[in-house]
Amino acid sequence: VQRGRIVAAAEVEQSYIMIKPDGVQRGLCSKDLAQEHYKDLKDKPFFPTLINYITSGPVVCMAWEGVGVVASARKLIGATNPLQAEPGTIRGDLAVQTGRNVVHGSDSPDNGKREIALWFKEGELCEWESVQTPWLIE
Ligand code: UDP
Ligand code: MG
Repeated sequence: VQRGRIVAAAEVEQSYIMIKPDGVQRGLCSKDLAQEHYKDLKDKPFFPTLINYITSGPVVCMAWEGVGVVASARKLIGATNPLQAEPGTIRGDLAVQTGRNVVHGSDSPDNGKREIALWFKEGELCEWESVQTPWLIE
């Protein structure tokens, strides 16, 4: 979208990344926001404990943008259940239980957009391009 972009705009995705309360103790998260964020899971038996967990303390919110960022972020984060997450992933190295899995990452480009719009106001996002981009993305 910005001037000088060297990859096709259609390939560029957005992913909402969040370090959960046990990951870092900073920021804020309300119950309404947590319920809206996880609305797809509202009928799951773990929904009430998930909402309690996410609102139990401050979180850090990030909006990442890049080619294939949704899948690469999820790969870096690892499987939902830390016991199934590979060593070298955040959950595989740092977490023990599904209910305390340290970090969130959007599961699709559509959800990435939805979650970023939910957690950030217009003007809070900063867009920039690293000088290394042409050496990382062909
Ligand atoms: N979760 C849980 N128990 C479960 C499944 C999920 O507490 O049996 C929590 C866990 O924190 C997970 C979040 O609900 O990260 C969202 O679940 P989802 O299936 O979307 O997993 P994710 O996309 O985070 O890997
Ligand atoms: Mg999910």
